[in-house]
Amino acid sequence: METPMTTLPEAFGTHVFNDAVMRERLPKNVYKAFLQVRKGDTELTTSVADVMANAMKDWALEKGATHYCHWFQPMTGLTAEKHDSFISPTPDGKTIMEFSGKELIKGEPDASSFPSGGLRATFEARGYTAWDCTSSVFIKNRTLYIPCAFCSYTGQALDKKTPLLRSMEALNRQAVRVLKALGETQAGRVMATLGPEQEYFLVDRSFFEKRLDLVLAGRTLFGAPSPRGQEMEDHYFGTLHERIASYMNEVNIELWKLGVSAKTQHNEVSPAQYELAPVFTSVNVATDHNQLTMETLQKVALRHGFVCRLHEKPFAGVNGSGKHNNWSLVTDTGNNLLDPGQTPHDNMLFLVFLCAVIRAVDKYAKLLRASVANTGNEHRLGANEAPPAIVSIFLGDQLTEIFEQLASGGAKTSRQGGQLRLGISTLPPLPKDCTDRNRTSPFAFTGNKFEFRMVGSSQSCAGPAFVLNTIVADVLGEIADELENSKDHKAEAQKILQKIAKDHARIVFNGDNYCADWVKEAEKRGLPNIASTVDSIETILDPENVAAFERNQVLTKSELEARTEILLENYTRTINIEAGTTLNIAKRQILPACSMYAGKLAASVHSVESAGAQSSSQKKMLETVCGLIDDLHEAICKLDEKVTRLSGLESTHKKAHHCRHEIVPHMNAVRQAADALEMVVDAQLWPLPSYAEMLFIR
Ligand code: ADP
Ligand code: MG
Repeated sequence: METPMTTLPEAFGTHVFNDAVMRERLPKNVYKAFLQVRKGDTELTTSVADVMANAMKDWALEKGATHYCHWFQPMTGLTAEKHDSFISPTPDGKTIMEFSGKELIKGEPDASSFPSGGLRATFEARGYTAWDCTSSVFIKNRTLYIPCAFCSYTGQALDKKTPLLRSMEALNRQAVRVLKALGETQAGRVMATLGPEQEYFLVDRSFFEKRLDLVLAGRTLFGAPSPRGQEMEDHYFGTLHERIASYMNEVNIELWKLGVSAKTQHNEVSPAQYELAPVFTSVNVATDHNQLTMETLQKVALRHGFVCRLHEKPFAGVNGSGKHNNWSLVTDTGNNLLDPGQTPHDNMLFLVFLCAVIRAVDKYAKLLRASVANTGNEHRLGANEAPPAIVSIFLGDQLTEIFEQLASGGAKTSRQGGQLRLGISTLPPLPKDCTDRNRTSPFAFTGNKFEFRMVGSSQSCAGPAFVLNTIVADVLGEIADELENSKDHKAEAQKILQKIAKDHARIVFNGDNYCADWVKEAEKRGLPNIASTVDSIETILDPENVAAFERNQVLTKSELEARTEILLENYTRTINIEAGTTLNIAKRQILPACSMYAGKLAASVHSVESAGAQSSSQKKMLETVCGLIDDLHEAICKLDEKVTRLSGLESTHKKAHHCRHEIVPHMNAVRQAADALEMVVDAQLWPLPSYAEMLFIR
């Protein structure tokens, strides 16, 4: 499909009520007051809110909008919105367009119909949305979207944005204390930055519609491997197919209009898999933008005859999808605190912030692991293509050497990169990085940021980001306490660095994370390896984790309990849907097709024999098929029984464990039997599009 030509500068930000629009449309004093509010220095007044709301409304109406909505991020991991039109009737029977400051800053969706993990009973319906002025208002589908946080009537967080914003405040508080103690007084604020790389699959819509598993569960629950998979390594970074390029072009234009700086795009490792990455921005805005990106990828796909799947593992046997969260810290003076500079060994600020992250990741490894625990990611972490479930840090040669020097008293030198010459006079000499990359690491230092690679492709960035912000804030708080209590800050900082380098050497691993030896080595080092999503979620409530969240005022114990409940419930519901879909497809599509094939073979044996010829091969085929049908039938009966038992269990924990240990293995057994049949049954009769078709036909 051809997309209309739009240039990037024409498109970028046209649907965003951004700073340029505000400068143009707001009285100077109001704009200035708003900037103070956005920085967190003052509170929003009703009069400023009224003027802003009015300016937003005028701008939106000019752009053809008819409605506004509070846009928030409940615990479903998706976004939610309730639309109201600007219409306001007047007593004389006319209508005027109205939008007040009150309507801008506060909304009241029914809170009891969103997952609350027991914080709200069905009858306790009141909830509030509150305008998050740090993320820009924008227009989509003739509606003015107002990014919001979402809480209950009692003020407890019911969403992903509230803890994210709280964690940003915590990080800012503690980072500024550390900077001050180290004599860095210029910076007034510190912000976490995020650049999420989004992986996704595209499946032709005609195939998708024939696969109830893709429709209902987001992943294939059946499917024998295609004779060709990803082994030729020819898809990764391969030439973009025309239909894909045209799709990506339209995705980009839609995103640019919304102010999302979509930048990098390419084919990923698995056939039919792709990636999109934006330019990084504040962790809060990047999280909102990633939600818009996931939505746009799916919406535009339909226009191009595709369906976009964001599931972590839509196809077995080929790579799954992740979301690499590139994360760093920047001051309001523009200093990236994780930029090592030319001589990192004598860059004290860098070393302190680097070591704070290292200590945080080691100390709270289980919590970080839990921040990426969902049903889809269970197929990914620890399978041989994604980081294992063991959290470790890749530092690379240069920083590892420095880290080791710190442990033995102080860093004196930094290895330098140099130049790479390819021996061809017409090619330029390349500046060589001082460190190689490591694709297998779950948490890798990549030049001037960390890349957290365990995040699942369907997840909101918020959870993994607020956990990372919180644990780093917590360690920075410890460091600030020590620095503030000492007279000689330099010497104290050296002592802190040395202690961290000694205590946390075990978390640094530069080798191959996919290798079986690493699992053994990690166990020797005492690093946790929690493969099960359910077990991982249960660690959230470990006392040290609750304490860290409460100390940094990000989440209270009861909010954490509620979240744990929601995550476990979500796991159970997802597995229950998968199991139900498995049974449905197996009983109503696969078994009937197999029976029909067996009947055909039997009829053939019959007619061959009555014609007086030998039918021994066909008899063997028939026996094979009948044997496999028996296997499938038996597996279905067992799964049925396990699913029936689920409803009899009472606690959320018991249900989740039953799913993990009883239902999942039997679902796999049904699949195994069905996939074996797919390899021998007449392709014309097979009811589902094959892996080969879905992965290779564009
Ligand atoms: P890679 O080669 O690791 O993919 P890129 O430079 O392409 O590295 O960056 C990948 C992602 O990391 C992009 O979204 C980019 O904007 C983001 N990124 C770069 N620098 C930072 C930073 N300081 N903080 C957060 N994200 C960053
Ligand atoms: Mg990367």
